[in-house]
Amino acid sequence: MSKKCIATAALAGCFGCHMSFLDIDERLIDLIDLVEFHRSPITDIKTFEKRCDIGIIEGGCANSEEVEILLEFREHCDVLVAMGACALTGGIPAMRNGIPLEECLETAYLKGPTYVPGDKVIPHHRDIPQILDRVYNVREIVKIDYFLPGCPPRAELIWEFLVAAVTGKEAKLPYEVVKYD
Ligand code: SF4
Repeated sequence: MSKKCIATAALAGCFGCHMSFLDIDERLIDLIDLVEFHRSPITDIKTFEKRCDIGIIEGGCANSEEVEILLEFREHCDVLVAMGACALTGGIPAMRNGIPLEECLETAYLKGPTYVPGDKVIPHHRDIPQILDRVYNVREIVKIDYFLPGCPPRAELIWEFLVAAVTGKEAKLPYEVVKYD
């Protein structure tokens, strides 16, 4: 059986979902027999050089670069998976959605306790991704094929999903494995 190609990305989140992915521990060795990791923080490959079978997205979109990455994943992956509450709903980063962007930036950069006196400035440069008016969950931007809920999703859920997706076997998902918090 040829190895399936997997790509992963961490957008606006805390990287906790990727940490949970790594919590499959020694089963990573078994996984390597079944899949090849391509573009991913796990490999540090930053561009798509080929088409992938499965793309896994952590986090929503808070800036223009994250939207570009998400669109690239949709374009280059046969199946796209939203991993975790931030991808599904915007999660913690989306707590700013009820506050106007200007107010968020002022509070962070002009009124916060960490600004340098005399150097009050809101960072902006053409090389800095443009912050969006609000945080968007990935479903608002692209079609998502599967969702792995949880903050983070349990390692067992990620493992069961991947084995099922790669081998075609039915996933075993008892109540304890699927959680929404
Ligand atoms: Fe972190 Fe939870 Fe968001 Fe995953 S869902 S990126 S663990 S805050």
